[in-house]
Amino acid sequence: MTQQRGNRWVAGLLLLALGCGDFDETSSSSSRGLRYVAAPARLPAIDEAARRNVIIVIGDGMQLAHEVATSRYLYGKDDGLSFHQLPTRLFKTTWDVNVYNARASQRGVAPYSPNTFDPMVGYDINLGGEAPYPLLPDTAGRREYFLNPLIYPDSASTATAMATGVKTDSSNISWFTGDPVNGALATSPQTLRRRYGMSIGFVTTVPLSHATPSGWFAHNPERFAYWALGHEILTETRPDVVIGGGVQAGTSYLDSLDVEAIYADPSYLVVKREPGVDGGESVLAAAEKARAAGQRLFGAFGGPDGNFESPVPVHAPGDPSVARGSIENPRFGDAAVAALEVLSQNPRGFFLLAEQGDIDWSNHSNDFPRMIGCVTDLHEGVQAILDFVDRPGDAIDWSNTTIVITADHANSYLRLETELGAGELVVRDPVTGAYPPGKISYATGSHTSEMVMVYAKGPGAAFLEESATVYPNHPTIIDDTALHGMTLEAARR
Ligand SMILES: [Zn+2]
Repeated sequence: MTQQRGNRWVAGLLLLALGCGDFDETSSSSSRGLRYVAAPARLPAIDEAARRNVIIVIGDGMQLAHEVATSRYLYGKDDGLSFHQLPTRLFKTTWDVNVYNARASQRGVAPYSPNTFDPMVGYDINLGGEAPYPLLPDTAGRREYFLNPLIYPDSASTATAMATGVKTDSSNISWFTGDPVNGALATSPQTLRRRYGMSIGFVTTVPLSHATPSGWFAHNPERFAYWALGHEILTETRPDVVIGGGVQAGTSYLDSLDVEAIYADPSYLVVKREPGVDGGESVLAAAEKARAAGQRLFGAFGGPDGNFESPVPVHAPGDPSVARGSIENPRFGDAAVAALEVLSQNPRGFFLLAEQGDIDWSNHSNDFPRMIGCVTDLHEGVQAILDFVDRPGDAIDWSNTTIVITADHANSYLRLETELGAGELVVRDPVTGAYPPGKISYATGSHTSEMVMVYAKGPGAAFLEESATVYPNHPTIIDDTALHGMTLEAARR
């Protein structure tokens, strides 16, 4: 991708003035016991005209290089994915407190403090670049900055930043930095439910107690406390929709007592993965039933390892095609639309988090074909969500619905050394495990602190554009904490 073509990515940005709401009650920590109010006392009167909906879509561990590689595979061009057509596109920094402190130590400056910090310590645009690769070329200096030493955030701290607006430590799930006893941070969906009576829910292709959904729907100083996170999600938060993996994985991710309790709970309609049954069809049929009966929806999917089996692209130059990894799981888009069918019944509006989490897992294993399959799943799912909002004859449209597509952090330092055509894949040498030289390269099986992309449409998009004040004279860069204010602003009435 040349710089000139790259400039298309930042063209057309409008900096719209938009008044900011007061977010006083939302960024403070509260004791665990006060997080939820069972019967909200002072909800606004229902006003159909004031309905607001927020959809946040996460491609876990996805950066622009992965998007471009997938777009080239599917369409033979760089910007052909569904979310590439959205009117707002921005770059996002993802540093957490661990990243900040490692950089601060390198520089000999003070560690992170919530009240006094320098964004240039968290992410230095002079060293890391003012745009992500491949908009800017890979250089020795950038490789040095990102890889030597390798300093990166994780899905827990970055989900916390997006869900609460607060920077925290790696591994913290909406929990304050330093792990104080009463460190739980109010998350945006719980604020929206409490303040406006909105429905809340999530969809994920990985275990439902994993870091990304947990960041919006649970609280814990330890991301690997899967049972505690699952327990809080299923018995305390009780989202209106949960569709995800992990349920078929024995007791790796969930306490079977919590799963059994949900199965026995008449307020939830339960749909499970069944041998030989199309999970996409069953989750959509279940959503229809839940909608008709006014029930919540619990979709128990995933394979024996907890994740949905990833879609599989085939190497067929000129004729790209991607097969489902298993028909027994929904496609990402089936799950997202099922969630929307249920959540959209609430005249007060809804919040949906939808995560394609296997992009990250494929990048950790430097699995290029699996990554293409997972980003395709995300691309098709976002198209299904856009089509849902565009559907005529209902109360959901772009005047009241905001969608944001982004990643939590970068991963794998994929570099595209040649431009593969539509339908072209590269695969590893079965003996050496190496990719063919000169085609693609990876530098790590870990995350990196590179910037990721943000795409948005709807009333909240202007808030994100207005948040691009982190670095003077760089009106295309926001910080991940801006997602929190955007969510509250997009839902404000
Ligand atoms: Zn990861």
